[in-house]
Amino acid sequence: MFEQEKERLVFSLCKEGYIKTDSVKQAFLRVPREEFVPDFLKKYSYVDTPLDIGNGQTISAPHMVAIMCEALDIKKSQKILEIGTGSGYHAAMVAQLVGETGRVYTIERFESLAAIAKQNLDKINCTNVIVEVGDGSCGLPRYQPYDRIYVTCAAPSIPQPLIDQLRDPGKLLVPVGDMYCELTLLLKEKQKQTVHHLGGCVFVPLVGKYGH
Ligand code: SAM
Repeated sequence: MFEQEKERLVFSLCKEGYIKTDSVKQAFLRVPREEFVPDFLKKYSYVDTPLDIGNGQTISAPHMVAIMCEALDIKKSQKILEIGTGSGYHAAMVAQLVGETGRVYTIERFESLAAIAKQNLDKINCTNVIVEVGDGSCGLPRYQPYDRIYVTCAAPSIPQPLIDQLRDPGKLLVPVGDMYCELTLLLKEKQKQTVHHLGGCVFVPLVGKYGH
């Protein structure tokens, strides 16, 4: 039903340079965003904008999901940690990128959103995403180290527990700031860390011990 709209959105995300690799393009084509959007907003599933998912939270805009997937350079079989599950859409995209032999752990502070995300992921038979409830600003130490960690909400600074739970080598992506923030990529390699600024963005706040 949404196939044409999805293809049109993917075409424009490629043309605008947000989607750079075939793997991210294929993930966009495979994951039905309409399954992660509340019924009354389904008709906007393939508009490049964030949408309400309840609890004052949003599913991120597709171009932001594309930017983050490309920046993380995700490979098959990797173990990934997402902070801020929301609808589960971004996790489902990353699950495509790591493939069946990879794992995505995602943590959400609202129990109700985590429950909806689990239902959404079940609807599309996504079996390699594990949803947890808790304060993701402290990471998820139980399954560390992670090849990639990303935060889908704005943190005042890069939370130290996330740096500690990142594998060496590994990549950590965090929007740093208040609502208006800077997408910040930390690379860990040979026990050294380098930080790169990827540009401005807008996110809901990370709320928790290492958050706002
Ligand atoms: N990735 C999501 C998707 O695809 O729908 C969008 C995430 S939304 C922009 C940010 C999410 O981070 C919200 O669901 C919010 O409740 C969650 N969040 C904020 N602070 C958090 C924390 N300390 N731990 C876990 N989740 C948190």
